[in-house]
Amino acid sequence: MNELRYNPLLGTWVMVATQRQNRPHMDEDRCPFCPSSGNIKNYEILKYDNDFPALMPNPPEIKKIKSKLYKNEKSYGKCEVILYSPDHKANLYELSINHIQKIIELWINRCKELSKNKKNKYIFVFENKGEEVGVTMLHPHGQIYAYPFVPLKLKIELDNAEKFHKKNKKCIICQMNEEEIKSGNRIIYENKSFIAYLPYFTDYPYGIFIVSKKHRPYLSDLDEFEKNDFADVLKVIEGSFDKIFNRSFPFMMCVHQCPVNTDEYKNFKKYYHLHIEFYTPLRAKDKIKYYASSESGAWAAANVALVEDKTNEFISSKLKYLASYDIEKFKEQFIYHFNKIHNKKNETTSIYKAPARINIIGEHIDYNGGYVLPVAIDLGCYTAIKKRKDNKIILSDINKKEIIILKINKKNRFNNKVIWSNYPAGVLNEFYKMGLKLKNGFDVLFFSDIPIGSGLSSSAAFTVSFAYALNSLNGFNLNKKEIALLCKQAENNFVGVKCGIMDQFASSLSERNYAILLNCNNLDYEKIPFELGDYKIVVIDSNKKRQLFESKYNERLKECKIALKLLNKKIKAKDLCSITPGEFEKNKNLIKDKIILKRAKHAIYENERVKKAVLALKNKDLIKLGKLLNQSQLSLKENYEVTGAELDALYEISIKQKGCIGSRMTGAGFGGCTINLVHKDFIYDFKKNVLYEYKKRVGLYPDFYMCKAEQGVEKI
Ligand SMILES: [Zn+2]
Ligand SMILES: [Zn+2]
Ligand SMILES: [Zn+2]
Repeated sequence: MNELRYNPLLGTWVMVATQRQNRPHMDEDRCPFCPSSGNIKNYEILKYDNDFPALMPNPPEIKKIKSKLYKNEKSYGKCEVILYSPDHKANLYELSINHIQKIIELWINRCKELSKNKKNKYIFVFENKGEEVGVTMLHPHGQIYAYPFVPLKLKIELDNAEKFHKKNKKCIICQMNEEEIKSGNRIIYENKSFIAYLPYFTDYPYGIFIVSKKHRPYLSDLDEFEKNDFADVLKVIEGSFDKIFNRSFPFMMCVHQCPVNTDEYKNFKKYYHLHIEFYTPLRAKDKIKYYASSESGAWAAANVALVEDKTNEFISSKLKYLASYDIEKFKEQFIYHFNKIHNKKNETTSIYKAPARINIIGEHIDYNGGYVLPVAIDLGCYTAIKKRKDNKIILSDINKKEIIILKINKKNRFNNKVIWSNYPAGVLNEFYKMGLKLKNGFDVLFFSDIPIGSGLSSSAAFTVSFAYALNSLNGFNLNKKEIALLCKQAENNFVGVKCGIMDQFASSLSERNYAILLNCNNLDYEKIPFELGDYKIVVIDSNKKRQLFESKYNERLKECKIALKLLNKKIKAKDLCSITPGEFEKNKNLIKDKIILKRAKHAIYENERVKKAVLALKNKDLIKLGKLLNQSQLSLKENYEVTGAELDALYEISIKQKGCIGSRMTGAGFGGCTINLVHKDFIYDFKKNVLYEYKKRVGLYPDFYMCKAEQGVEKI
């Protein structure tokens, strides 16, 4: 059954299309949009007529209703699908600008073509993304509807635009752009032709608009340069969406342009112009913002978030996206925000990056004289820094509201209110202690994409990037080892965090494609080639924030001391890790307490595993490396008891997945992350399955990070 029925209360049409009810939910093995499926030949971008259209060029005959109030019509129009890419797993933002521009060109061609049919009154380009908005076909695609009427929402916008124009002789969309640019605090991104902002009035927490800067009534009015800019802004904004909650963000993308073939509106080309509205049904990672009674039944919307607050979150997500996909553009945007926050005009600024780290193996033995094997990863903390003429130090952070002002060469005191500011303040104090004085003040902007409290050492990256930037700006000539030590001191002395040297050391001294074998006692280290062939490291954040960490840490410290004292009766060793497994097995009867015995066993065998892991890496024996990771995990669970339900669940779920040959927690435990050695061909399914099972079992939503061995702190 296909027909249009008129709603006399609202004065608009409803499309009745009963066969849409039976649309199949395709499983991924039989996707009809994949070129390999047989239905479709290979393509780059493709227009495909909807198999279950609500509107059609040759609609079925209908039986006209006889009524004073009701009326019906044939469902003229057209429903088309635009396939963005032959790659089933691609996201629009992963495609090249050139490719996206071709999608835009296809949109434009279809709009022009569909406008030729005088029955079509409005051409609507849109995309539904995600199962939350009812998408049954996961293959990347958008759609185009040609309606035989101007849909109600567009009608309302056009009516208001007309009224505004009558009064002000101006296009309402042009005016909106002007006001947003003037206020400036809701803009997420702009290029020469487009501007993206969360409008003052938006009713969705992330309901962003992308608006043409020039007055362009139709998509087809865009020139070549504008099409390129349109591709750019779509790529950046859609990429940013997926960083907001570190998950595929569902949305509805709606292109609003002028109607066609209608004389209902006079002069509309003068008072209305092209903009793209996003409807975003998430308000938290796994919480849907429903269009409930007030919104649906009264059209009275409530936004639970302040748009100006969400702007910062969105900007941060944009930088996260750019940092991982396009570092040159990241730099350009980071400097753009630096200039905006510090009231500068088009100035260039130096940017330094210090990475996060994972520890491949060697857990909880840094304080037992053992080895650790950290690798710096792609996540990091960025510092943009520029000298000032006066003696002020002005600190800002993309993710924070506060601006902190300090004076040079003046010992800083602990700030109870703005905790983050104590990290740079502590670093400054350490410089002063060394007698290194500053001649000028400076402006700083920080940005970090390292999750906090997840055991990836966000604080070490923070202090190292700042210390290194300061060192470079002032020509202090400290080497990277000295930087690492200075940062450890800053954290120990000023921020009051108990930490070993591994984090600062890895963040400072790592080299691309190498792990660092570090002797925590004497800071001797060796670079170990970190080549994984067809395997990749997948870091999974359990999103269980570390708790009880400090008290348990101190408890283990004490237990290890007791174990050493007992073993020292027969073995001369200055720490547990100087004892070989052979010596331990011969003398373990010295330890009567079962718990103390387990702790000692972990430390001694874990140190042995580090040495074996180094050999495995040197021999490129990844299966062996994977086994060692698993053994480490089990020892941390059984002997050292620092894993907890969430990390145990992640391990158990991950290790049974196809392609995963090793898994273990990294960091101090009691929450935080696991690292997983996964074959590259299985990563997509690995992530999908672990996400599903972990969520089901633990109720938390895990985050995934793909990691390679990165460079330590550097100017970028
Ligand atoms: Zn597909
Ligand atoms: Zn305009
Ligand atoms: Zn609109």
